[in-house]
Amino acid sequence: MTTHQLDPVIRAISAASHVSRNAAAEVDRLADLMKDDRSPVTVADLAVQVAVTAALRDANVEDADRIVGEEGADSLDQGGTVMIEQVMRLSSIALESAGLGHCAPSTEATLRELLDAGGLDPQQEGRERFWCLDPIDGTKGFLRRQQFAIALGLVEGDTPICGVLGCPHLPLETVADYGMADPLGSIYLGIVGEGAFAGSADATSVEGLAPTAVSPTPPEGRVRVCLSYERAHGDQDRTSAALEATGVSTSPIRIDSQCKYAMVASGRADLYLRLARQGYREKSWDHAGGCAVVRAAGGVVESATGQPLRIEGRWVDAPGGIVVRTPAVDAVPVSN
Ligand code: AMP
Ligand code: MG
Repeated sequence: MTTHQLDPVIRAISAASHVSRNAAAEVDRLADLMKDDRSPVTVADLAVQVAVTAALRDANVEDADRIVGEEGADSLDQGGTVMIEQVMRLSSIALESAGLGHCAPSTEATLRELLDAGGLDPQQEGRERFWCLDPIDGTKGFLRRQQFAIALGLVEGDTPICGVLGCPHLPLETVADYGMADPLGSIYLGIVGEGAFAGSADATSVEGLAPTAVSPTPPEGRVRVCLSYERAHGDQDRTSAALEATGVSTSPIRIDSQCKYAMVASGRADLYLRLARQGYREKSWDHAGGCAVVRAAGGVVESATGQPLRIEGRWVDAPGGIVVRTPAVDAVPVSN
């Protein structure tokens, strides 16, 4: 992937960041469009998936005809006409702000096709290279007006090779409270083997980003660790035991979404532990983009058993959980 080919991808993520930040600000107005069970699928999740898919296709980005996307057209059925209109409106605004108004869906059929394009099963359909998209990763953070990410990864075989994270509420520089929304937000690009880059979320090209890398060593020898904000997304007992065994004494930075990968990739955290509860199977769109960004920045993304994280189509293969660390942090001893 050359940086030139990635410019449209950066533009798409930047536009989606902009629109989702505005949507987060008016989330109460969108609330009645959420599913009855309050399971977090919002108009913004659907609109961003539509806009990013349409933008990738418009730029003739390879393999964008079918992608591994978190959302599908079935969610539209729950929300009815209001939801369809809102998704149409938000996705059009996102595409217009990227100068791509011409590819905004104008009919319900086009909208549905764009969403259903996210249903790719790479293994069943024999795809060696595919994009994984989580349009609003950390929807619970989005609803709290805290951290969330637009996460896109390109996978070859079982390996993420390129990733882009739009983090609309995450500052580019360190601030004391990561729970707070940043007025500008940030964007991260990782091309494994070439390097990682970061910039303001309104960047429109790779040139608008500056090189970034993982921290060479934990400051003052104290490992900074990121964990999910949602405690239910991790096995707290195993996590505490692993942190204790590693000798981590700092209080964890709790942030939603793949912003945690961005924190490690940009040198603001040394470790991200994700030890899910028994029976939970990690999804590829929750890790492909972030994994590529961290690896490109010089970090390690592995299973709790020390094997490199692998993508298996719509799923992740990481026995025992996921450990994201800088090379300066030793492999983390994780119990079963
Ligand atoms: P995070 O904010 O890092 O906890 O990640 C958000 C992602 O966690 C969502 O996109 C969900 O796909 C995923 N998720 C949902 N339920 C669980 C669970 N029980 N354990 C782990 N991850 C989950
Ligand atoms: Mg997600």
